[in-house]
Amino acid sequence: MREQLLHLLFPHVCLVCQKPLLPDEEYCCASCMEEFEPFRTPSEAEYVLRQTVVSHFGEQFPFERGWCRYQFHKKSALQQVLHSMKYEGLFNLGKSFGRQLGEWMLSGGDIGDIGCIVPVPLHHLKKTERSYNQSEKIAEGLAQSLKQPVRSEFLVRKRYTVSQTGLSAEARKQNPAGAFLATEGVCGCHVLLVDDVVTTGATLAAAAQALRESGAEKVSLAAVAVAAKE
Ligand SMILES: [Zn+2]
Repeated sequence: MREQLLHLLFPHVCLVCQKPLLPDEEYCCASCMEEFEPFRTPSEAEYVLRQTVVSHFGEQFPFERGWCRYQFHKKSALQQVLHSMKYEGLFNLGKSFGRQLGEWMLSGGDIGDIGCIVPVPLHHLKKTERSYNQSEKIAEGLAQSLKQPVRSEFLVRKRYTVSQTGLSAEARKQNPAGAFLATEGVCGCHVLLVDDVVTTGATLAAAAQALRESGAEKVSLAAVAVAAKE
């Protein structure tokens, strides 16, 4: 809340170090951005994403392709910034992350025949609490870069899942199964499923399963960051 207020009062200071931003900087200064640990190439990121998901789900990677921009560490500058995006109403930050992610995806070559972008939905109770879904903002930024539509209505949450924070890895893995319902609109489509941070991939795997059950031809994955093994 304090940061949000600061940012509203002083939109031209860095969210992390509070130093003034240069004209081409947005939300975060270049030296704090350097601490974010971006992947060198999209294929390196895809490899790490596969390893993360496979280590929780056995041999299977339940996605066609996968992209993410950063490695995520606890108590890092990136965590601070993503927290501001999620809980402090800085939704333009989500769009900005999404745009960057999309441009980076394209820089890695052919991204395949993606036909629509679907954010992981928040349950409507949580959405009311927070007033917006950060994954939807990331999806909107991706849509600008990839020139594909956001179709949030294709995926809904069936029931309220307990917040993942504080749950054990095993509980997290169990938690989201069966939590989503996809509409027939996805039929035959290659869907790009979007989330902010991948921890175990359990939420995304559950969402991808719902999309496939409703006839999505392929499901790929895009996230701002993947959690590093601590
Ligand atoms: Zn800074």
